[in-house]
Amino acid sequence: MDGTGTDATETLRFRVQKHAARRLHYDLRLELDGVLLSWALTRGPSLDPARSRLAVRTCDHALGYADFEGTIAAGFGAGTVMLWDIGTWAPEENPRAGLAAGRLRFTLRGRRMRGGWTLARMRTEQRERWLLRKRADEEAGAEDALTDAHRTSIATGRTMEEIAGAEPASSTGRFPRN
Ligand code: MN
Repeated sequence: MDGTGTDATETLRFRVQKHAARRLHYDLRLELDGVLLSWALTRGPSLDPARSRLAVRTCDHALGYADFEGTIAAGFGAGTVMLWDIGTWAPEENPRAGLAAGRLRFTLRGRRMRGGWTLARMRTEQRERWLLRKRADEEAGAEDALTDAHRTSIATGRTMEEIAGAEPASSTGRFPRN
């Protein structure tokens, strides 16, 4: 154990899947205890620490979904899924206590999202609404720099249109190169 209550935190997976469902959003996924904790970001991540982004917590996803890219043909979430960022995350405090308390501080080691970030649950009676905020560090930047600069898959280089136009993904999906 390393003080965060998690073994081998350097290997915890971090993913973002850009998802053109009924509404376009970005699904932030953080591996913990054998599942992918998930939040849906309507506008994607902001690199500006002054601009928090609404992150609605959604159901945990199976680890097998971590590298999925392709088209969900029907049912909930039907639409095109792009693997937008991949890497690992490291909680800075006990992540289970943080989840319960509504505050997670962590470092992202993705290809696109990096450095310190905070997720904080809003004080509201509604479903779990959190705010994702970039912390001020050398990885901070302009508000929409990430989403403007990166419009293709981190795994395959494809656009959303190219993914949507491809053959339906197999049940195992596509996996990132290297
Ligand atoms: Mn989604």
